[in-house]
Order: sequence, then C-alpha cells, then structure tokens
Amino acid sequence: MTTQKNRPMGPMTTAIHAGEAPDPATGASAPPLHMSSTFVTDQVAGFSAHDLEGGDNGFLYARWDNPTVAMLEKKIAALQSTEACLCTASGMAAATAIFLTFLSAGDHVIVSDVSYAGVAELARETLPRFGVEVSAVNMSDLTAVAAAIRPNTRLIHTESPVNPIGRLTDLAAVSAFARAAGALHSSDATFASPLGMDTVALGVDLTMHSITKYIGGHGDAVGGAVAGRADLVARMRAEASIHHGGILSPFNAWLISRGAATLPLRMKAHQQGAQTVAEWLETHPQVTKVIYPGLASHPQADLAATQMRNTSGMISFQVGDAATGQRIAQQMIDRLQIVHYAVSLGHHRSLIFWMETAGLMDTSFHLKGDQLEAYRAYAGDGVFRLSVGLEEAPDVIADLDLALS
Ligand SMILES: *Cc1c(COP(=O)(O)O)cnc(C)c1O
Repeated sequence: MTTQKNRPMGPMTTAIHAGEAPDPATGASAPPLHMSSTFVTDQVAGFSAHDLEGGDNGFLYARWDNPTVAMLEKKIAALQSTEACLCTASGMAAATAIFLTFLSAGDHVIVSDVSYAGVAELARETLPRFGVEVSAVNMSDLTAVAAAIRPNTRLIHTESPVNPIGRLTDLAAVSAFARAAGALHSSDATFASPLGMDTVALGVDLTMHSITKYIGGHGDAVGGAVAGRADLVARMRAEASIHHGGILSPFNAWLISRGAATLPLRMKAHQQGAQTVAEWLETHPQVTKVIYPGLASHPQADLAATQMRNTSGMISFQVGDAATGQRIAQQMIDRLQIVHYAVSLGHHRSLIFWMETAGLMDTSFHLKGDQLEAYRAYAGDGVFRLSVGLEEAPDVIADLDLALS
C-alpha cells in the first residue's frame, strides 16, 4: 500500500487499512459484514464463470465474490505485496485451488516430500487418480529438485518452513528452476505468515496460506488464501470458487480481517516469544534437539537469515526416542495449564502437539532411504510441534517445565 504521495506505508498501516474504507452508506468506521448471498444487479443476463465481471464492477452472487470476502482478499494481497488474492473455505481448499486450476491429466508436479499432512496426502493420493504425475522431493536439496524436473513439469509446490519439522527451502533458487522449466512456483507460507518472507521478491508465483493460522490468529475461524498475479488469481477464482465452490463465508472473512489488522504486531511478539522459549528449550536437560529458524543451531541458519524477515513462532523439539516422546506428551496432557495440547498453530494461545515420525511416514509421507534419513536428521523419532502464542514467555516456559520434568 502507498500513501497519497506514493510513499510506501508501513506493515501495520497496511494491515489496518488495506481493503477497508468507511462505509459510504452509514459512515461506519469499522468494516461492515455483508451476509448476503445474492446482489441486486443491472446485468440483464450472464450466469457463467465465463461471464464473470464482479468485484469492482458490481457483485452478483457470493460464490463469485462478496464484499466482505473481497475486503480480506485486498488486505492479504497488500500484506503479501501481490496484485490479487483468492480466499477459500480452508487452507486445504487453497491447495486444491492451486492444483486443480494449474494441473491437468498428463502434467507433472513436484511437491515437497515433507509438508502439511493434508497437502501431502492430496498430492500423493488424489492427483494421480486424475492422471497427474507427482514427484515428492526434499526441497532443501536443490540438486534433487533440478533432477526431478521433466518436460511436462507445470508446477513446483514448496512449503517453507515445512510443517512439522521447520526445514527451509531456498525459494529464490526454486523459482529460478521453475521459470527455466516454464512451470509455476507455488509456495505454502503458512508457517512464516506474510510477514515472514517477501515471496514476490523471491520469485514465487502463488503464495498460499492457511488463514486459520497466523492471519486469523485467534483460533476461531477456518479459511485459506492464495495470493499472486491478477491473471493467475482470476483463473483460480473461475475454477475453484465458481466451479468447485469452496468459498470462504463472509462471517469468517470478517473475523479473519479483524485478526489480520494486527498481524505485523502479533508476528513481532510471536517471534520474540519463540526466540526466548527456543533458547530456554536448548538448555533443558530433557530436550535433545531444538529446531527454530531464529537459532544459530538451525541447520539452515544462513538461509533463514537471508530469506526470512520474521522467524515466526513455530518451534519443533525432541526429547529422545518415541517412547519418551509419548510419555512426555501424556504429561503435557495431564499437567499443562496455559499451553493447550492441540493441533493447529498461529493462534494467540500457545499450542503443542506430538508428531511421531513412524506414524507420519505410514499415513502421509511414505519416505524411504535418503529422504527418510534427511527427515530424521531434523525430527528423530518424533517432534513436539510448539506454536508459541502471545502469552509472556516466562509463563509459557514455566508451563512447559512442568510437563518436561
Ligand atoms: C493448517 C495448514 C494447512 C491446511 O489448512 P486448513 O485451514 O486447516 O485447511 C495447510 N498448510 C499448512 C502449512 C498448514 O499448517
């Protein structure tokens, strides 16, 4: 966002004001919630995705677009410095929007061999049923990425940092591979949030978020987003919203906009809290390894320093073998008073969950040989995925200490 004199606005000003304006009908300063599925129109006919104008040319039907959802789309596009954004019913609907818009039978896609489990399963189990060839590659190994490219590669889908182990991908390098191959580069930046990386500068074509996580930030609404060039987003809107129908409800868009308005402030606090907790975990006798991009001990600390402008609030740590992990997980369930033992992440409340390597391999990743070894180098027999919330770090530390002893 820029001011009247073309001066670039700061991230907080952008987060608060992008997409919003006082309501012209009432003067309301806070954004209205338009719970309307249809809109009175002066277009005599036209009821196909191919006739779509919508948006600034007038709204038609909420599966095309809705003013409250459009407000959030503008806000996220501004935060991610892209031309446009499509919001979806969930992060998974955002991944589906990317895959089913830009891939057809006979195409090849390269996905990260470690990713959010739902995305891993969607790529490995669903896409092949529709004739799409899928390669799952360790995206931190650029030689492996280059070797996986085929003449029919249309899309490279990365995730950085990867859920749940915090491994990073050199996004600029992968963007260069994709460009040379005539493929698109989509990247799931949920762990980093829009504040974490300037994905546009890193050459990413489509930046995906589960807005259930940091962008919403309060654990009360599920949603997804894909931000990128206007022409790519328009194609996704026609396929994913209008035809597949996985739209974000206006109510969720309104809640998530309210969260997004404080995102830069929250990300600073998440980073600060996570740094303190990660440094404390490194000194705890029960903890055998801590992975956090803000630690000098992160195996890709140099890449973290050049690529990430905020290292976010996601920590993974180990406590020994799988049996020890399970015992500590049970102690967490029994003893934690502040940190919730629950899946999800990026909320104002701290959340923790035990992710055992063997189980994830069976259900989601199916890694063998070198790829399994590379996973285990980060995760051992399993990790605690800790999403450090906005509570004071000493309180989070005292709570974790109860469960680790
Ligand atoms: C949670 C998550 C998703 C899926 O998002 P939902 O909103 O739960 O559908 C995708 N990618 C990452 C990295 C996630 O953490």
